Amino acid sequence: MRRIVIALGGNALLRRGEIADARVQLDHIAQVAPGLAEVAGQWELVIVHGNGPQVGMLALERENDRALTATYPLDALVAETQGLLGYWLQQSITNAGLTGQIATVVTQTVVDAADPAFATPTKFIGRSYDANEAHGLAASHGWRVAADGDHWRRVVPSPGPVRVIESPIVEALLGLGVTVICAGGAGCAVTEHDGRLNGIEAVVDKDHVAALLADVLDADLLVILTDVPAVISGYGTPTAHPLGHVTVDEIITEHFAEGSMGPKVAAACHFAERTGRVAVIGALDDIAAVIAGTAGTRITSAAHSPTEDTHDVR
Ligand code: ADP
Ligand code: MG
Repeated sequence: MRRIVIALGGNALLRRGEIADARVQLDHIAQVAPGLAEVAGQWELVIVHGNGPQVGMLALERENDRALTATYPLDALVAETQGLLGYWLQQSITNAGLTGQIATVVTQTVVDAADPAFATPTKFIGRSYDANEAHGLAASHGWRVAADGDHWRRVVPSPGPVRVIESPIVEALLGLGVTVICAGGAGCAVTEHDGRLNGIEAVVDKDHVAALLADVLDADLLVILTDVPAVISGYGTPTAHPLGHVTVDEIITEHFAEGSMGPKVAAACHFAERTGRVAVIGALDDIAAVIAGTAGTRITSAAHSPTEDTHDVR
């Protein structure tokens, strides 16, 4: 059976401006679950999910908790989101008709403590604020904030993933026919020193981890599902247009927004270049068409010609 890594956007599981109630997120997950259950019947499936909105919410709750003397570090909060979103996905995908087993692996992602990303936070977490509110929170909580489109959000360091500690376990589970949810929120960021792992204050981008995992697990297809149907060239300009099939050489000539589309394009290019296989970026709502090759932005390496022109599910 062919192998697929699907990255699910945290923002698609909780849309901008939506109330973060459990019911709201469960409803979104219930909508995507049938599509994922169907994919799981045809592919060896690895699901990596984002957690930007969710981890930011937990961080704010912990900072406001007067019973604590210190907030929780980001690696610990990422672990909490892995459990919660993994649980909801397991249950919803099972209820949607998955025939086999599904498991969530709490995952640690090694980063380099000297990564320059620690000096320049780019990863958006939590909800959106207007500029005034955001700057007020930055002052009172010691946050860094940045504009995410028309709104403002907290930003945290997002170093690149070096290694996924649990990838051999994921490989073993796939071999047993288990659908695996792993590297949720890109995995808990850890440093590795003299064989010891330690959590570190960062949120790795799930798109980069998905590409790394897809490469390490020798996946046939990497699919990055988000809340827009395609990568837009000239985003926010009068010449804006969606990209269909592009090569890495074509797409890397353009700059894409840090912390949102930038990491998706970079991750897709990384996978396409390293493996000669196809990476697709598209909408969660179009999951079947994106996998079938009829929707989303397909990125291939110019150096390799993909073995087949479409990647039909059969
Ligand atoms: P996710 O949670 O799926 O990772 P992100 O917010 O990180 O979602 O990335 C998707 C968002 O990127 C879109 O909703 C859109 O607002 C933004 N975006 C920025 N640049 C582009 C672009 N060139 N094409 C499409 N969307 C873009
Ligand atoms: Mg993102």
